[in-house]
Amino acid sequence: MRLTIVGCSGSFPGPDSAASCYLVEAPYDGGTFRLLLDLGNGALGPLQRHVSLDLIDAVALSHLHADHCLDLCSFYVVRKYHPGGPWPPLDVYGPAGAGARLSRAYDLAAEDGMSGQFTFHSYPDGEFGLGPFTVTAARVDHPVTAYALRVSDGDRVLVYSGDTGPCAPLGRLAEECDLLLAEASFVEGADNPPHLHLTGKQAAVVAETAGAQRLVLTHIPPWHSPQAVLEEAAPHFAGHLSLASPGTTYDV
Ligand SMILES: [Zn+2]
Ligand SMILES: [Zn+2]
Repeated sequence: MRLTIVGCSGSFPGPDSAASCYLVEAPYDGGTFRLLLDLGNGALGPLQRHVSLDLIDAVALSHLHADHCLDLCSFYVVRKYHPGGPWPPLDVYGPAGAGARLSRAYDLAAEDGMSGQFTFHSYPDGEFGLGPFTVTAARVDHPVTAYALRVSDGDRVLVYSGDTGPCAPLGRLAEECDLLLAEASFVEGADNPPHLHLTGKQAAVVAETAGAQRLVLTHIPPWHSPQAVLEEAAPHFAGHLSLASPGTTYDV
């Protein structure tokens, strides 16, 4: 499968990147299946550099903070008002209540105001199929209901942390994965609040303990130096380590 970093700025869009959005593609049914992991604020713009919007097959949201979901409001406009006619509803997986939350964000009168454009699904317990992928969502440690996601194409495995503090479910989900896309919002030594985010070092420890082949650090806020976060991670992970940057593609 192929992973493209669409947006990777932490917590809010930065001057050089939209907020969280990752495009995951794999062959399916004679064509290509395209899954978005998160669609944070600003991400619908650069997404169009990588794929025509009508070719997106599904969206999986880690949680309902603005920097992970809010551009579904913009995608709603595209799907509803496209001059070629409305587009069919798109499958969106996420925390319970995502449809109502996003309808309110767009100031729609009805709680299910986006049901013509999106079909919202809560994450089931255990794994589920999504095109060529088997997806597993695990609850992680964040102030709102939040999930890390494991995406397998039957051969290779990508794990995305979403937003989380250090927690056992993330470690279990990441076991023996080929690529761990892990948030690293904090730097060591700061007075970091608990149950919120990882440092680069903490992300590296998760990857090393889980036996991940590759670690890509993401969700670094514009107020931190990505290089400093990378340097904090490097001593703690023996595999291939890199920083997410917009437009970068990985063959997982
Ligand atoms: Zn975030
Ligand atoms: Zn968050």
